[in-house]
Amino acid sequence: MTGKRKITGARIFDGIDWHDGCALLIEAGHVKGIVASGASGDAETIDARGLLLVPGFIDLQVNGGGGALLNEEPTLDGIRQICAAHAKFGTTALLPTLITDTREIRTKSIEAGVAARAAAVPGFLGLHLEGPHLSVARKGAHDPALIRPMEDADLTEMLACVNALGSLMVTVAPENTTKEQVRALADAGIVVSLGHTDVGFETACAYAKAGARTVTHLFNAMSGLGHREPGVVGAALATGTLHAGIIADGFHVDPASMGIALRGKRGPAQIFLVTDAMSPIGTDMTSFFLNGREILRKDGRLTLADGTLAGADIDMLSSVRFVHEKLGLPMEEAIRMASAYPADVMGIASHKGRLLPGTDADFVLLTPELGMKSTWIGGERVFAA
Ligand SMILES: [Zn+2]
Repeated sequence: MTGKRKITGARIFDGIDWHDGCALLIEAGHVKGIVASGASGDAETIDARGLLLVPGFIDLQVNGGGGALLNEEPTLDGIRQICAAHAKFGTTALLPTLITDTREIRTKSIEAGVAARAAAVPGFLGLHLEGPHLSVARKGAHDPALIRPMEDADLTEMLACVNALGSLMVTVAPENTTKEQVRALADAGIVVSLGHTDVGFETACAYAKAGARTVTHLFNAMSGLGHREPGVVGAALATGTLHAGIIADGFHVDPASMGIALRGKRGPAQIFLVTDAMSPIGTDMTSFFLNGREILRKDGRLTLADGTLAGADIDMLSSVRFVHEKLGLPMEEAIRMASAYPADVMGIASHKGRLLPGTDADFVLLTPELGMKSTWIGGERVFAA
């Protein structure tokens, strides 16, 4: 961890601008700076000629990977497996995400998250609890029998674990969560995301004022944008303080709607990429189980028996490629959607999401065509293609 390293020869994107003819200097796991290539010193030199060096990807919604699903394996090993699987696709920080489940599984997941933080599992950023305080009307693949209102004990449990976890995001629906609860969560530094909700524009805006910071998988499992009722989608686009995660696999949201949302989003909050990935990522699994229900993997989709989409079969690098190649976004903006913007959502921009002096040396080396070469977390190579 103490080593000085110098990555030379790559085009470097620091999250803001490109740097040509420069080297990335790393010391003790952090970025020391981006310097003219010639300067040498005692650093170990890594030749990255012809490659792109970009900030590591940050995925705020990851249910599983490498064969492990947090709901089914709420353990330290399960989290290790998920983080390692996504590192192969450029993700250097992620929130293992628990889909609505029983109280016991939630408590076990929180304990596993606390253990992962204590063990400094590479890539572990914190947890995302998606549910159970959602709307049955917009349940998606969540088991309606497990959806329920937020009680005092739920709030207490979440407030008690945020510091030990490092970061915590919770997806809630106003139908089963009060504004006062949202305020209490936000005041404690928990990132509240509105999702799986059928409320209208006014209510969504009121919850944003109460402290909600983002919305969960924009367009999916929420009231849509109508001409007289702008819905949660309208609230997310029209409210400058609300960020919005989006799944860029081409199945969850039509590329035309994605383009409209990106052009219509009011800042400074931004639309960012999430994978919503499940256990099969990085494996050849063709099915798996969630709360005892079988989910099938076919042709890039994951579905319940009735055809309901149940998470996504996409990794973060493919998501970046999708918005760059299919939507025509400039490469740097596609990369920001996977790194700088999610860091902003979580309030961790001072150390992750960009490669600036003092930030964590979390980065990815890619070919100019956005092919995978290697992934680095805290200045250490954790994956090489
Ligand atoms: Zn969801």
